[in-house]
Amino acid sequence: MDGNGLEIMADLLEKSRDEMAETLSRMIAIKAISPLSGGDGESNRARFLKTLLESWGFQVKEYVYKDDTGTDRPNLAVKYGAMDKTIWIIPHMDTVSEGDPGLWNSNPFIAKADAGKIYGRGTNDNGQALVSSIYALKALKESGASLEYSVGIALVADEEVGSRYGIAKLMNEGIFSENDLFLVPDWGDPSGSLIELGEKSLLWLKITVHGKQVHASTPEEGANANKYAVRFLYSIDNFLYGKYTKENALFSPPVSTFEMTKREKNVDSTNIIPGIDISYLDCRILPEYSVDEVIADLRRIASGPEFSRVKIEIEEVVREDAAPPTGKDSAIVALLSHAIAKLRKVEPRYIGIGGGTCAAFTRRAGFPTAVWSTIDDVAHRPNEYAKIRDMVEDAKVFAFLYLKN
Ligand SMILES: [Zn+2]
Repeated sequence: MDGNGLEIMADLLEKSRDEMAETLSRMIAIKAISPLSGGDGESNRARFLKTLLESWGFQVKEYVYKDDTGTDRPNLAVKYGAMDKTIWIIPHMDTVSEGDPGLWNSNPFIAKADAGKIYGRGTNDNGQALVSSIYALKALKESGASLEYSVGIALVADEEVGSRYGIAKLMNEGIFSENDLFLVPDWGDPSGSLIELGEKSLLWLKITVHGKQVHASTPEEGANANKYAVRFLYSIDNFLYGKYTKENALFSPPVSTFEMTKREKNVDSTNIIPGIDISYLDCRILPEYSVDEVIADLRRIASGPEFSRVKIEIEEVVREDAAPPTGKDSAIVALLSHAIAKLRKVEPRYIGIGGGTCAAFTRRAGFPTAVWSTIDDVAHRPNEYAKIRDMVEDAKVFAFLYLKN
């Protein structure tokens, strides 16, 4: 598209500023929290968004999955344009709960506008990008601009609790094609220059050492679960950091990490040798390594001669296997890099992170996916906010991606 067309688009979005802020404010007042976190799902919020999109003349397809609690978990998909390839933008509708309400300076479910920011649960994660994406869609339609790609927006459920009733199921509906391009706007930095290309595998392990409780004065009659737990943790720390040493410069830190974190309380008295000891390991493993191999290594060490007097149980608490990272030269990353350089006047930088987004699912299916947005680091925190300026500027970047050059 020529410079003039881009200006028309930018102008349309600039004029939508107040309306976008209003939509974000109305949306966050409609709770969308997983039943597993004490909420009743995304149905009310999805209804609000579907009605809004339909009032703009779009057809919205709804994909509803019933979860284990019997709650409907809706996902919405909108398409506009009839080009061969679609760029899909995939924000999520659900949010985490408000956490400790005492830490908020205002009601987390009543939007508060102040100094160009809107405060409330879900404004940053992922409301801002959701609103940016649907207003980019609206502006593209209203401008009548000629498109290089069809516009696809998938508003998904259940991202905060593992995506089982969101993108994981939506992948099987046949709406995405291997010709398509994918953007998940669910991570970013305040400058808008960082494009996330890969995620480490996430593994949380619970390690239970079963020994034998006795009086502390006669340790030879028991098996000190605490002592064996310390020995075990120490030996796996050496082992894991000694074996899994590959580096990948995309990530920060560039290595896999295996950190002993939580420790459950064992006995109440100093003169009791604990019979049971429970500790946890947080592992962030480079995509180059297999998670199964890590677990097998730990189980092998646990059943070794050094630990024959106790039984060491290793359980997976959370596990998200990494997908292959997206290449810098993939179409979506090249296009987004160009858009950022042109509209933001910043040099795009590329990074891998230790956490998981919906991109894990699209990447696992073989679809190169960029993760990008412009946000402050306030997700899941009290007094979470979105900057209205970032919301409008990101909408311009989203719209630009679809335009004919
Ligand atoms: Zn999110």
